[in-house]
Amino acid sequence: MKNQELVDYLVSCGVCTICQLRYLRARGTEYNDINQSFQRLGVKVPENQLEDETNGISTDEQPLKKPRLSHCSTCLGIFSEDFQRELIEGIIASDFGKYDSEGIVLAITMPMSLQLRQLSMWFALQRKFGPTVHSNSPPDVPIKEAVKLILHPIICKKLDKKYDANGLMISIDLRHTVEEHEVDKLVELNRVAFPGKTLKRIEISRGLLEKQYQPSRVKAETYEKYLPIPPPAVDESLSLKSIDLQGPMVCVAGRYRKLSRELSHTPWLLQGVRQMEDSIEEIIIRSVGPHFTETVPKITFMSSGREDVDVRCLGKGRPFVLEIPNSRHSSLTKERALAMEQAVDKSGKVSILNLQVVPREQAMHIKTGEEQKRKYYRALCALKEPATLEILQKLQIPESFDIQQKTPIRVLHRRPLHTRPRTIYSVKARLQRDNPLVLVIDIVTQAGTYIKELVHGEFGRTTPSFSSIIGKPIDIQALDVVGIDLDWPPEVDNSLSQ
Ligand SMILES: [Zn+2]
Repeated sequence: MKNQELVDYLVSCGVCTICQLRYLRARGTEYNDINQSFQRLGVKVPENQLEDETNGISTDEQPLKKPRLSHCSTCLGIFSEDFQRELIEGIIASDFGKYDSEGIVLAITMPMSLQLRQLSMWFALQRKFGPTVHSNSPPDVPIKEAVKLILHPIICKKLDKKYDANGLMISIDLRHTVEEHEVDKLVELNRVAFPGKTLKRIEISRGLLEKQYQPSRVKAETYEKYLPIPPPAVDESLSLKSIDLQGPMVCVAGRYRKLSRELSHTPWLLQGVRQMEDSIEEIIIRSVGPHFTETVPKITFMSSGREDVDVRCLGKGRPFVLEIPNSRHSSLTKERALAMEQAVDKSGKVSILNLQVVPREQAMHIKTGEEQKRKYYRALCALKEPATLEILQKLQIPESFDIQQKTPIRVLHRRPLHTRPRTIYSVKARLQRDNPLVLVIDIVTQAGTYIKELVHGEFGRTTPSFSSIIGKPIDIQALDVVGIDLDWPPEVDNSLSQ
């Protein structure tokens, strides 16, 4: 089969120039200059054929364009300039302008008619050109691929965006008036072509079409009883069914300090009943979330560990990150970040700083190596009798030691029962001023150590414990986290914006 014969035949079937190139198996940049590609492939194209096709090769200077009578029988006009215009206008008319993402990604769903017509043309070419057209490898560059090569760059350019797989997802659903009729016929065809596998219309998928509908599996004679070979040109072009926008996932990180001993980490529910009116997660999300997205409930809050309700977290604070799906904004100005920090501070229960947008791949910093990290605590502990020098000396432990810790009874309802080894890096106790019954103990531990149980021992479930070390009962009255060994996110001072 010569290129010229192929193109002549395609022209006679009402196939557009882009699709002719697809059947000539043009790749990549070969679609940029159609005339040149045809020349290179040794194909002469009728003079008037190119005039209202796509890709900037149409000459707008020609004032009297012939009205188009029909649309390409294989792409239903997807590559025509008119359709491109409709597509761009549709995107601009959507909520597109609300998103500031620099990158976009396109997901175009095409009517199944395009797949059926591809098969029909495949049969037609086999009839015309015989065995040079294989039965199980398609004769054309798939429309999906050509759309990526041709339409995507044009749309990006017109919208002034970069193509980015993590950018704003524009899902475009296309339809054509012939689809319903053709899919009805396909359902009938399917009963004959694949008996025993009766499918309802709804079960006929694009994937199934791709897999099962090839000349090696369906006979042309069978196909032709339901749908014509070659595919006929159509009067109408494809049209837009819907455009859906899904903003990118944006990660906002910072550090929080927990200033209250009556605040849970996340909403605290017992048998569906709220135990506390607020939580760290909610306070932060309601101050940060609405700026980024309309779907605030979909935001995920993660932190590097957590405190108990009655434990404060001071010092530089605990790193956290919000994963915000469908975000309108991909960046955060210092002014805006400061306003968010101030809104959280107003709660009086939590304070945040270093608020910033971070690359998505960095968000996992928050979880990786969590077990290895060191945690710094200050515990206020009460003795039953006044502290002695001996007790104070026993609780000066500069070198690290290991403990065995059974899952505390208080968390058994949500954690499995295990005995875990944990490393205590250092212990340093001093008397609280004016009260010989109270010790202030600074403790550095491996992350994941239960501090309350480390202090009182929980009836021997944690060994050794401070209680077993001094040989006397000791209990914890208050606990603060004073440092977390995670050097992330980077420090930023948003107040410098003022
Ligand atoms: Zn076409």
